[in-house]
Amino acid sequence: MSELQLQMNFAPSSRGNRFRDILNSGEFMLLVENSSPGRDNDPAAAAEKLAALEKEVLAIQDLPAALAITDGWNHVESWRAAEYVAALSPENRDRHLVYVSGRNTDEAELNALTHLACDAGIKNLVAVSGDAVRGESIRDTRKRCFTESVRILDFWQQRRDEQLLCGCVVNPFQYSSYSLLGQYCKLVRKINTGAQVIVTQAGWDMLKLQTLRWYLSIRGLYIPTIARLLLLTPERVEKILAGNYPGVNISPDFRKILEKELRFSLNQFEAAQWRRLELQAAGCKFLGYSGIQLSGVDNHHKLAIAAERIGAALREFSSFEQWLEEYNSYLARAEMAPFTGSFYLFDRTLRRSYPEHAPRMTPLGEPQVSGGEKFRYRLRHFFFPHADRQDASARRLLKVLFCGCRGCNHCRLPLCEYVCPDQCPKRLANGPCGGIRPDGGCELGGGECIHRRVMRLAHWQGEITGLEDRILPPGV
Ligand code: SF4
Ligand code: SF4
Repeated sequence: MSELQLQMNFAPSSRGNRFRDILNSGEFMLLVENSSPGRDNDPAAAAEKLAALEKEVLAIQDLPAALAITDGWNHVESWRAAEYVAALSPENRDRHLVYVSGRNTDEAELNALTHLACDAGIKNLVAVSGDAVRGESIRDTRKRCFTESVRILDFWQQRRDEQLLCGCVVNPFQYSSYSLLGQYCKLVRKINTGAQVIVTQAGWDMLKLQTLRWYLSIRGLYIPTIARLLLLTPERVEKILAGNYPGVNISPDFRKILEKELRFSLNQFEAAQWRRLELQAAGCKFLGYSGIQLSGVDNHHKLAIAAERIGAALREFSSFEQWLEEYNSYLARAEMAPFTGSFYLFDRTLRRSYPEHAPRMTPLGEPQVSGGEKFRYRLRHFFFPHADRQDASARRLLKVLFCGCRGCNHCRLPLCEYVCPDQCPKRLANGPCGGIRPDGGCELGGGECIHRRVMRLAHWQGEITGLEDRILPPGV
């Protein structure tokens, strides 16, 4: 048991679930993101800092505000968010959102963290599979345990705890048809496994944020959605460009605009970022988001400015059209797509806030499957048509030869278009992680994300919609 846990006041709030109440009320909310600190930090000092931040966040007047506490993704050894919440005031723990990352988390650890959070009165948990450790090779990543977000949600669903509100994340900033549909397919699997709120990856492409809302709407999935927005600093821009923020991307055109803003002065750069944030926050409200999760506000001064500017921006625009005019003159100057020929699911986004009729989806065109891939698919289908119902060791040698089998205990080849899910360095079986590159490349390099390949083959086989009904078990 950690020092933070020992300090925990286990008296839960008796005030219901105020985060859920805010979502249900339709009020636009602000979540201030804070990551759990590395274990080398003094726990008492970290707890004091979090308690002070909580006080400031709860004192925000203009809109309902709370904290989103994430597992420290950039430290290998960090306090878990579920431990860190010990520093929050017991009477307000039902207001906040707490993330549980599947990285380095086996079932026993997940059980312990869930109990810890729930016993402390946390009622809102978000499942993420977790990022790879920066600088680690594919081989080292394979040695780590990643419990997939879908499995975490499934675990929470088994608890049958009506007080618990479970959430998930999605990366809508995908620019190839198959990587975008892979994200959406996984999102539907998460919703089918109990996700009741969605938080997006951070990004600046409002077309993609609207596409997600439209997609959920035409699918009849009326799930509250929160847009994660990231306040940029020159250092943060550099880190994103160096690949230190998995799944977050800056397009070449946007990069040029940021460089231009920086050329004048740091003050000018900061002013431009605040205006960008204001416009994004106000836009999210018009696009039907329930709130924003603001990342990158790392001191009290910035938090005070953020609260004031976001509150003012929400009052500034009285209609979607008025907002759109300002957005077009300020933000739309930058092409947010990272490459030419980028895929957009709908072609008339950002002309109106909601689709009057079901919008037409951009056709996928001919399946992008090579002759070699078709041959391998048929070969695998011939040899392993029922592998998911047989002992995983059956025909192992053939699986190694034809599928790159890594020897798991539960073969899922027929459920995965005969692509071995254990080829994913994180061994995720139910879809791409949030760190996937915008063109569908693996977060860790080494070529295409295997789940993009699964989507391509599913398209060829006419099985894309059937995929989301399958929840794949882990291989162990
Ligand atoms: S899913 Fe992959 S690793 Fe597991 S038995 Fe099948 S081929 Fe082997
Ligand atoms: S293969 Fe896909 S899901 Fe697996 S780590 Fe790479 S990008 Fe993530």
